[in-house]
Amino acid sequence: METVADYFGSLVFNDETMRNRLPKDVYKALKKTVAEGKDLDLNVANSVANAMKAWAIEHGCTHYTHWFQPMTGITAEKHEAFISPIDGGKVLLEFSGKELIKGEPDASSFPSGGIRATFEARGYTAWDPTSYAFIKDDTLCIPTAFCSYSGEVLDKKTPLLRSMEAVSEQAVKVLHLFGKTDVKKVNTTVGPEQEYFLIDKKDYAARKDLIYTGRTLLGARSPKGQEMEDHYFGAIRSRVSAYMKDLDRELWKLGINAKTSHNEVAPCQHELAPVFGTTNIAVDHNQLTMELMKKIADRHGFACLLHEKPFAGVNGSGKHNNWSISTDTGINLLEPGDNPKDNAQFLLFLVAVIKAIDEYQDLMRVSVASAGNDHRLGANEAPPAIVSMFLGDELTEILEALVSGKAVNGKGKVQMELGVHVLPAFPKDTTDRNRTSPFAFTGNKFEFRMLGSSFSVAGPNIVLNTIVAKALKEFYEELKDATDFNAAVTELVKKTYSEHKRIVFNGNNYAPEWVVEAEKRGLLNLKSSPDAYDTFIAPKNIELFSEFGIFNSVEMHSRYEILNEEYSKTIHIEATTLIDMVNRQVLPACTGYAGKVAAAVNAKKLALPTLECKSESALISEITALVDNLENAVTELEKAVALSAEYSGSDLAHYTRNSIIPLMDDVRGYADSLELIVDQKDWPYPTYGEMLFYV
Ligand code: ADP
Ligand code: MG
Repeated sequence: METVADYFGSLVFNDETMRNRLPKDVYKALKKTVAEGKDLDLNVANSVANAMKAWAIEHGCTHYTHWFQPMTGITAEKHEAFISPIDGGKVLLEFSGKELIKGEPDASSFPSGGIRATFEARGYTAWDPTSYAFIKDDTLCIPTAFCSYSGEVLDKKTPLLRSMEAVSEQAVKVLHLFGKTDVKKVNTTVGPEQEYFLIDKKDYAARKDLIYTGRTLLGARSPKGQEMEDHYFGAIRSRVSAYMKDLDRELWKLGINAKTSHNEVAPCQHELAPVFGTTNIAVDHNQLTMELMKKIADRHGFACLLHEKPFAGVNGSGKHNNWSISTDTGINLLEPGDNPKDNAQFLLFLVAVIKAIDEYQDLMRVSVASAGNDHRLGANEAPPAIVSMFLGDELTEILEALVSGKAVNGKGKVQMELGVHVLPAFPKDTTDRNRTSPFAFTGNKFEFRMLGSSFSVAGPNIVLNTIVAKALKEFYEELKDATDFNAAVTELVKKTYSEHKRIVFNGNNYAPEWVVEAEKRGLLNLKSSPDAYDTFIAPKNIELFSEFGIFNSVEMHSRYEILNEEYSKTIHIEATTLIDMVNRQVLPACTGYAGKVAAAVNAKKLALPTLECKSESALISEITALVDNLENAVTELEKAVALSAEYSGSDLAHYTRNSIIPLMDDVRGYADSLELIVDQKDWPYPTYGEMLFYV
């Protein structure tokens, strides 16, 4: 029987395949280029391209594509056939080193935030040899970065790779001060837990809002929601289970380590978690996972919803970005050590993260801001919009004790010097239990829980890597000339923790008191995406990204523009879809139903003239009143949408947030009230109950 081990990675041109198929010297040269991050020699590229082509054709491929991640947050590809015509009406199958290394997609329609006018559409993609080529839909996919010809970055991959290099360079310098001179490189690792909904394809196809916007814009709550909590970790239904098995199998073929699947809190909601990996690979794999989730759902008669809030009143979907830093010698730098020296090093890296998050709360918040995620953050199902960190009581106590010199666990005074004394041990498993924190230490990694389910994890990790690189760079400067290294580390840990401990909060982040307390502490509370976006281009943030060569000022402004544009466009599409559904589905259904009731009243009165038909008459009046209100509300919304033509950029985003969204809520209120009194047979789209419970 075929086992997982037989097909795992079978669609990936991975290290083993390369070793088997490339001439020895080519394989060695390729490995060396990857390790040193140099440009690939054309002869080596030609040889690799040849081997890739042969392998791909054996697997039934006819095309290849440079697979890249433009700023839309999804992936893009332009398929080219391998064929090249020769005399006699025949073709050769060709794929050169040049085609492997560099591609020129017509990139005019990808967002660039004004960097590249459409008439000079040229951009190029370049192979990222640290990420393996793979096969999808009979196409050889080559993971690439995407730039404009003038050198500006147009994608999410390039800045991600740069941020990984930045944090590596700074961490290595600090580690060398600790005597870890064997460390040459440090990698950040990521394991993203992905939530999603599965509903019946028939229901999906019957709702314009799901088709156009990914979420329901209308829909009254069903009699049952998630209050019984009977879905979480419950038995997986056979149809869903067949889907999950199929999904795992397809992911495994692509070398993606899908590990756990379970039901989530809301009905029809599920989660998939992979084994963590190096950040850029984890980003690629998460993009592929989302793509396959949708594709395979279709095969099973489902639609997979990755929107952050597909249904009002039940939990939305997020993505937990588990993040850590490891050396090329295999040490997880966020793992508490078991000797004094390693403990000092652990605490130094820990306070580097604390400092980074405190100083760049705004960037962390921007990295998770979107129209969809605004429905979740702060809605008591996800962390609030306030960025804070959870360390757990034990670790917090240790840091507090260091600063104050007071006792830990009542064991008397501890004048601890890091690197000399052993830290009081703290149990790791107790650190995992705060589910409300935006950024929680979970024993040997941090879990960033504010991401929305549809996000590319590139953005949040670009921020995390860069801000931690910045903190480590400052630490290196402080420590490099220290005469007493241990004493200097102790002082630095104490000082950093004292200065930034306001960001640490171990309590319940959903409690209203936290909002008040956070304000007292001076923490940011950027409630909506447009508020968050405005902080992106603050001078300190432009300086940060420029300092590490991640983005220059032009690129930052272009990204700022794209963020605002994407937000406003998303809500614009939602508003026009809502208007369409109300005018062309809800209102006609209500009028039709009221007409039916009125006809029934007339018929009854004709038969028995003395009948009063009180309840029917009341129903007709109620429907009519609601319909009038709905008409008015939708007219107001139409006007507000028309007015948006007068705004642009950040102004438009704020206008959309403040003027369009409240009117959409009004419209929904009336339409949902009508849904509850109109005959179900007359209702023009599937209800919440039908979608969430009849699957
Ligand atoms: P929970 O549901 O309790 O948050 P899970 O076990 O479902 O936790 O998910 C934990 C995720 O964290 C997994 O994807 C796992 O691979 C990932 N992870 C574990 N260790 C690390 C690490 N050092 N770096 C990054 N991610 C990690
Ligand atoms: Mg989690």
